[in-house]
Amino acid sequence: MTYIVTDACIRCKYMDCVEVCPVDCFYEGENMLVIHPDECIDCGVCEPECPAEAIKPDTEPGLEKWLELNTEYASKWPNITIKRDPPADADDWQGVSGKFEEHFSAEPGEGD
Ligand code: SF4
Ligand code: SF4
Repeated sequence: MTYIVTDACIRCKYMDCVEVCPVDCFYEGENMLVIHPDECIDCGVCEPECPAEAIKPDTEPGLEKWLELNTEYASKWPNITIKRDPPADADDWQGVSGKFEEHFSAEPGEGD
């Protein structure tokens, strides 16, 4: 198993998760993060740190799409281990539905 980031992260991108990960397996897109499934050691410490509740274990049903997306973009986006300031409007996007369809960006983020 692995933990993965879902669309709840899109445009929230608080980055609280990256500082607690013992193996530095978060990767940064323009407006969300993903976890590298082959690097995650399933420790679970990042899950409760996410204010947007975007991080889930892939053992939960219905998350196949997110496992695929995390796998694909973890190999394309830069590694991130240091928290920066979240987007100024991050709180406005917390809990908004349909974010993937309307706001997902395949562009890479800055990384560390
Ligand atoms: S803490 Fe949650 S919302 Fe913030 S970057 Fe990590 S997964 Fe995304
Ligand atoms: S479960 Fe642990 S190893 Fe996996 S991403 Fe979260 S903090 Fe990192």
